[in-house]
Amino acid sequence: MKYRNVINKILIGVFVVSGVLVGCGKQEETAMSTVKEFETVHWKMVTTWPKNFPGMGTGANKLAELITEMSGGRIQVKVYGAKELVPPFEIFDAVSRGTAEMGHGASYYWKGKSEAAQFFAAVPFGLTAQEMNAWLYQGGGMALWQEVYAPFGLVPTAAGNTGVQMGGWFNKEINSLADLKGLKMRIPGLGGEVLSRLGGTPVSLPGGEIFTSLQSGAIDATEWVGPYNDLAFGLHKAAKFYYYPGWHEPGTTLESFVNKQAFEALPEDLQAIVLNASRVANQDMLADFTARNNQALETLVKVHSVQLRKFPDEVLKQLRSISDEVVAEVAAKDPLSQKVYQSFKKFRDQVVEWHGVSEQAYLNARTL
Ligand code: CA
Repeated sequence: MKYRNVINKILIGVFVVSGVLVGCGKQEETAMSTVKEFETVHWKMVTTWPKNFPGMGTGANKLAELITEMSGGRIQVKVYGAKELVPPFEIFDAVSRGTAEMGHGASYYWKGKSEAAQFFAAVPFGLTAQEMNAWLYQGGGMALWQEVYAPFGLVPTAAGNTGVQMGGWFNKEINSLADLKGLKMRIPGLGGEVLSRLGGTPVSLPGGEIFTSLQSGAIDATEWVGPYNDLAFGLHKAAKFYYYPGWHEPGTTLESFVNKQAFEALPEDLQAIVLNASRVANQDMLADFTARNNQALETLVKVHSVQLRKFPDEVLKQLRSISDEVVAEVAAKDPLSQKVYQSFKKFRDQVVEWHGVSEQAYLNARTL
């Protein structure tokens, strides 16, 4: 990599100082038109995740490495974990104002900036990972996401997915909706709105603060991600019951976003590399979670004696009905949210039909 950079500098130096190209014919034209591409840029990537945190933090690291590798070292990306450069929930503003060129997080953290942002991370009883990718890449979702982030000078894209998450950690059994009343729970985004409707208090804590808050009793319950991440945080040491499924996060998309000026300063090939590296990272992270969650679940249950519980069907049914109401109400808050919601809802309704006779039917069939 260093060797390549030295060569790049030499080449730029030759072009700038002499103004004359060495060589002849087509080579000259090619070299001249790609002079800009030889410049090396140094980017900072700020993240909402603790440094090197399994899954998300390592996913951000991989994305940075991939961009550097694919660009032949022309984009050097240094990753900063939560709090290293800015606090986790300030990365959106930091990249927007250019303190860092790139961010890695989850779009539901930015509902204070735009309600519509939440649709690109997770919607309760919304889309699975496979369906989110279909909506984003083939169903018009990505263009809407770009429209939502444009006023902030940011270019967003998908850069990871957790798959279906777990319902969360509780210190009491959840047998009815009444058991959620009065509960102070760490649960972000639209799922938090649903809990609020049920008389609970949703709290949006960054990952690094969850364990201590649960252990100290500052919160009564928490969701985080799934067995792989939850085990790494030691959440089983602070709560007894581990509920599923994660109705509130059925296929959470993680994001990368780039400062628009920094993005537009890149030549087209590097812009394509940044976007497509994110696309690879998106797929990689889902594979990482899918491969590791089952192992971690076994450890939680067999080694740590965690009480695994499924939310009762009646509770899930009621949660779904309230979720649909809450999501529709949030979407009614502004025209852009409504526009995103209409696209999302149309896609969801269609895919529920299709996956009813494909994915869902198969998953049911193989456990008959
Ligand atoms: Ca979560």
